[in-house]
Amino acid sequence: MLKEKRNLMLYKQDFEKFFRLLSETFTIFGPSKTDGSRSFTKIDASDEIAFDYENTKMSLKEFFFPQTETLFFFDTEKNEVKQTDVETNKHDKQNILFGVRPCDAMSISFLDKVFNANNPQDLYYTRRRKSTRIVSFACTNPASTCFCTSVGCGPDSETGADIIFFELNGRYFIKTVTPEGEKTIKSAEKLLNPATKNDIEEKVHLMKTANSNLKKIFDSGNLQKKLDNFNAPYWGKLHRKCLGCGICTYLCPTCHCFDITDEVIKSNGRRIRTWDSCMFSLFTLHASGHNPRPTQKERMRQRIMHKFNYAPKYYGKTFCVGCGRCVIYCPVNMDIRDVMKEIMEER
Ligand code: SF4
Ligand code: SF4
Repeated sequence: MLKEKRNLMLYKQDFEKFFRLLSETFTIFGPSKTDGSRSFTKIDASDEIAFDYENTKMSLKEFFFPQTETLFFFDTEKNEVKQTDVETNKHDKQNILFGVRPCDAMSISFLDKVFNANNPQDLYYTRRRKSTRIVSFACTNPASTCFCTSVGCGPDSETGADIIFFELNGRYFIKTVTPEGEKTIKSAEKLLNPATKNDIEEKVHLMKTANSNLKKIFDSGNLQKKLDNFNAPYWGKLHRKCLGCGICTYLCPTCHCFDITDEVIKSNGRRIRTWDSCMFSLFTLHASGHNPRPTQKERMRQRIMHKFNYAPKYYGKTFCVGCGRCVIYCPVNMDIRDVMKEIMEER
């Protein structure tokens, strides 16, 4: 067990060596300069990492829960089922996700509650999760669309991370959060020194400034109570400009709905899992033609209620980490912060 979280320092000029030592044991993924930090991609050299990015467009969930994946292959004539590599553990090498924003690290701790619970446990997610360490990068310059501090997260949140990095002047302040984090840096220990009082003070000052740039927009605790009114009048208007495109849920790091389909040619087939979205009209369409969520009003209500009312009741957490992706990419500028404010202000 990790008795204490350690505060260590790494000079920036040693980062290249640090990266090389870690990559002898791990495959490293991170926000890469080559794809404009769109998603987490394999990093082969330290200078490929984009340190100055705000956040990736695609969230981290696709690493553990891909948009489409084959669960297994089958042959109905031979009555056979063939496992995929994930099931047979062939992909079980150790990975590091490097440079994860604290909101995304926290989102993985939520997905763990859904997929990595004891009963039932999702084999596909769990295999990938167990072989991956998360190294976060504290946000010293949050984007204008970030609202993590309104939902119990923050620019230096440690939840979900094994290690967290803070970028100081000419050096990195590295805090080990879990025993796995300690093991991750073992091979590079010789490059690290204990943080001094001055290092700690510089880090505290840096994060104080970052926190002060993030205004608390609403109180997610009060919001949960407010949402207990399922038939509140605001549901009749909040959805009006929504197109039902589903981008908000696809990019959201905590949304995790999926559909299962079979693709069959003659007797051979495969069972596929694909992301789905509660914002789609077909999501709840019954075979009879009846749809219990017939309009965008019911679908928008489901999205908001799931995140801010049902999830806190079942999991003790609001399933929003304030990353702002849904704010940035909604084609009609639906801003979830305005939706929340409107709900809070409704009498
Ligand atoms: S991204 Fe915007 S328009 Fe698309 S489903 Fe979400 S709220 Fe509606
Ligand atoms: S609801 Fe929006 S802000 Fe909240 S976690 Fe999902 S994408 Fe991020």
